[in-house]
Amino acid sequence: MVEKSKENLTFQAEVSKLLDLVANSLYSEREIFLRELISNSADACEKLRYQSLSKKNLLKDDKDLKINIRVSKKKKIIEIEDNGIGMNKQELIDNLGTIARSGTSRFIEAMKNKKEGDISAIGQFGVGFYSSYMVSDKVDVLSRDAANNEINLWSSNGKENYSIESSEKEKRGTCITLNIKKDADEFLDSFRLRSIITKYSNYIPFPIYLNDLDDKEKEEKINEGSPLWLKDKNDIKDEDYKQFYNNISFNFDEPLKTIHYNAEGVISYRALIYIPTNQPMDLFNAERKNKIKLYVQKVFITDECDDIMPNWLRFIPGVVDSQDISLNISREMLQNNPIISKIKKGLTNKILNEIENLSKKEKTKFETFWNNFGAVLKEGIYEQNDHHEKILPLLRFENSINDNKISLEEYIKIMAKDQKEIYYFANTDKDHIKNSPQLEVFADKKIPVLFMVDAVDEFWIQNVSKFKDLEFKSITKGKVDVSKVGEKTKDKKDDNKKIDSKIKDLINILKEELKDNISEVLISERLTKSPILLVAEESGMDINMEKLMKMHNQKTPASKKILEVNPSHPMIVNLANNLTKVDHKKMSNLLLDQANILDGNILSNPSGYLENLTEIFIK
Ligand code: ADP
Repeated sequence: MVEKSKENLTFQAEVSKLLDLVANSLYSEREIFLRELISNSADACEKLRYQSLSKKNLLKDDKDLKINIRVSKKKKIIEIEDNGIGMNKQELIDNLGTIARSGTSRFIEAMKNKKEGDISAIGQFGVGFYSSYMVSDKVDVLSRDAANNEINLWSSNGKENYSIESSEKEKRGTCITLNIKKDADEFLDSFRLRSIITKYSNYIPFPIYLNDLDDKEKEEKINEGSPLWLKDKNDIKDEDYKQFYNNISFNFDEPLKTIHYNAEGVISYRALIYIPTNQPMDLFNAERKNKIKLYVQKVFITDECDDIMPNWLRFIPGVVDSQDISLNISREMLQNNPIISKIKKGLTNKILNEIENLSKKEKTKFETFWNNFGAVLKEGIYEQNDHHEKILPLLRFENSINDNKISLEEYIKIMAKDQKEIYYFANTDKDHIKNSPQLEVFADKKIPVLFMVDAVDEFWIQNVSKFKDLEFKSITKGKVDVSKVGEKTKDKKDDNKKIDSKIKDLINILKEELKDNISEVLISERLTKSPILLVAEESGMDINMEKLMKMHNQKTPASKKILEVNPSHPMIVNLANNLTKVDHKKMSNLLLDQANILDGNILSNPSGYLENLTEIFIK
């Protein structure tokens, strides 16, 4: 008999918060608790099977890995038992209570911003176990760990505390007992459970048995427990594919595209991967890894093989099963492994081809894809040079000419007469772009400009510089000469001849007064309506890029900008004609402040600006 000493421990504060949130949620699809617990059991079985490859006697005589679900209306309980890897005392504490798992706070945060319905995404955050408190007022986790046969009982009513004590359990693995809440007794019905298991967990690669404890005769096997990816495509229905997708990805949308194929060549493998319809919640979380599960001959090896999928395809969930990797491979040996890099290359090409097909044959689907994953795909042009040719034609841009997003090919078709560069405007604020004076001359001359509104745009574009011999040219940087491009506009220089020398005087004054802030003052080629504008120097960092770097706290020395002046703007003309009557310092600062405001910058001395402005109004 083991000496029983019960320890009472307190949940880590974040966990408590999360439990409260789950227990009191009004979420209607509470049935997902079962999906989460079965998924954990399947993981435990996969981990054990993997470890047993190197530790031969781990499985002992309990070799058939499986999941048993038992239900009793009389006792008001549901049990979910697996003969997987189990947990020792420390693991119970770490996994189920004390340590703030990284997903905990992110899940709480996501819940704050979303409707109740989104509890369904709990599995994406790695905190699925707690969903059991939607239906239970007490949960017991009895576990016997495979390595040392340590047996412990973890128990909690899901409030602030939980207890742990050593206990008895005949068989290896974990048995979770849910004491079902009064208002959740619908789940004590074995038919209901059966339909939930078929709905969510039919393609879990281990058999699931259901047993009604009130009816001793009844034990039935619910699913086949054989891996879907090894089946013949013709034998698989769309619903099967969808459910498997939901099981492995914790996304609950329809897959946008299912890709199931056999690669045979230098390396052979079978892959079942998906392009999701919706964006997973953590797509832009820096810690997010790829979602590929690697199997060797049906044995799960790892879902943490960083090298199997490029990071910019991290939204693709799926399974890869290869016979060409040794079953005895350790997870460490998967790093820099030549077979894995070949598989990665194969997967990447296959996915890019499928996306290309979407773009050509299923335009609406492609649009959905692009809106959700376009920004991530662009990381691919930034990170690697191998895929430029494939990715560049997939890009779609908002632009100054029409409301549809266009490809680079389409851009070339609508380019203005004699246009030799691809003009773009990068800024993550779309409204800023649309209202910016930078676009004036382009609008007047009907020269199309691509809007680059994703932060990553500034980065990939430096890596590419050209599309089909046409250079990309930022219109917010350096000299832009479009005098010979597009429709002819009235040459304003003639009008201004008389005051040319006065404008020159004005420019010289601005140069002198602003020499500490501005690298150059020029007559603008871009402005047709606004008086004044800031642009980046040709050799300097683009304006938007500098803002992005600052946002990420990168220490970038603020580079001096070029101030452009529109010589035909009435305000400029007026100033040039009255240079003797105004205070040069104040005038120069006012103009610079105006340019900064147009650029969306925060003025360093707003009260100085207002003072100067007021003074002019009063005069
Ligand atoms: P996730 O499974 O996404 O990591 P959970 O909150 O569902 O998040 O589970 C937390 C952890 O508890 C798991 O990662 C696993 O280590 C452990 N665990 C949960 N259920 C079991 C089980 N049936 N057998 C072994 N370990 C388990």
